Amino acid sequence: MDSYNSFDVAQKQILEAAKLLNLDQATVDFLIWPQKEVKFIFPVRMDNGSVKIFHAWRIQFNTSRGPAKGGIRFHPAETVDTIRALACWMTWKTAVVDIPLGGGKGGVLCDPKSMSLRELENLSRGYIRGVAEYIGIDKDIPAPDVYTNPQTMVWMMDEYETIMHRHQPGVLTDKPLQVGGTQGRRDATARGGVVTVREACRSLGINAKGKYAIQGFGNAGQRAALLHQEMLGGGTLIAVSDSRGAIFNPKGFNPKDLVTHKLMTGSVVGFPGSSTISHDEVLEANVDILYPAALENSIHANNAARIKAKIVCELANGPTTPEADELLYKNHIHVIPDILASAGGVTVSYFEMVQDSYSFFWDEDEVHHRLDKQLTRAYQRVQEALREKKVHPRLAAMIVGVARVAEACKLRGWV
Ligand code: NAD
Repeated sequence: MDSYNSFDVAQKQILEAAKLLNLDQATVDFLIWPQKEVKFIFPVRMDNGSVKIFHAWRIQFNTSRGPAKGGIRFHPAETVDTIRALACWMTWKTAVVDIPLGGGKGGVLCDPKSMSLRELENLSRGYIRGVAEYIGIDKDIPAPDVYTNPQTMVWMMDEYETIMHRHQPGVLTDKPLQVGGTQGRRDATARGGVVTVREACRSLGINAKGKYAIQGFGNAGQRAALLHQEMLGGGTLIAVSDSRGAIFNPKGFNPKDLVTHKLMTGSVVGFPGSSTISHDEVLEANVDILYPAALENSIHANNAARIKAKIVCELANGPTTPEADELLYKNHIHVIPDILASAGGVTVSYFEMVQDSYSFFWDEDEVHHRLDKQLTRAYQRVQEALREKKVHPRLAAMIVGVARVAEACKLRGWV
């Protein structure tokens, strides 16, 4: 796997798009840095009575189109640059799907797997006390990310409301339904991805009912396995992996049974009727559609040339390195880039904010319908940019996102 400073990659992507858009120097200088970075430390009382000090960040990359939006990670390997990069990509993601939000991200340097539930609650509440003055429904709306979840969001929302002395459920999204969550959030990322695959198959004349493979069988991967068949009317899932291993069956897996097996055993490995393959063989499987839904940089210079899929739908954030991107483009593989393919999650988070703001909640069909419309339109806009500028799809999506943000900055008189 190639190793990258993700913020260097993110800045290079902006420069590339800015050049094609002929942006002036001040606009470029403004767009390549976060507008605001908050770094702080806070104490947490641990179960054994000791006090531990944690380092944390909240970064608002750009708020020209609306309040910042993006998750909070609890992770031992977090750095200011990983958070900057993720906040930056959120900016283009919200702009590509054209929702009135900017980009942000936060993180706490910690090892959540070694912490008890009570310690995690103390950590979540301590984090919010540190950022309360910077977040809010009209400033910055966090959400879950790696090792944070709907329960984390409820603790954080409760702490924020306690500080503010008022109900404000829309301050964080991806909450459980009972406390201001929305229908349709659990499968939103995968659903958005499958919408873009449907559109890609239509425009490229690829059989959507052919074979597909999924790398990473967590939330996004499992939902994609099920929704691919449900929404596209068929398809044969022949290869799947998770962190413990990878499996193959040329006749196809039943996604529902595979989800149950993963739930019961903790892995896809050992699924009846499957043979074991290597992690890379899933990426290189002879399929029409590949969904990378695990980690960043998993498609790299050393394996990209062996990828056979006609469409790569990036549900994961940053699964393809810049060198691999070039190779896939040369080999005529249609990549649906992460800032478009995985934007269903933030789109439904936005729907949650809207519903929270007027305390009236939509049914699941309405959420699905609106999400489909938003992602279809975004896919088509990126295709137009791709044809106009004759560039690869990631750059086309960046062009759409960067142009919208640059225009908002100009209209405001910032640059
Ligand atoms: P998750 O933790 O639920 O699932 C990740 C899966 O990847 C797990 O099954 C894990 O076993 C597997 N995995 C880890 N290392 C692997 C490896 N080397 N090879 C194969 N599989 C491996 O996470 P998730 O929420 O499904 O997110 C997956 C990706 O999608 C991440 O990049 C995330 O940033 C991105 N994403 C998720 C959402 C969302 O709403 N869940 C939204 C946008 C982007």
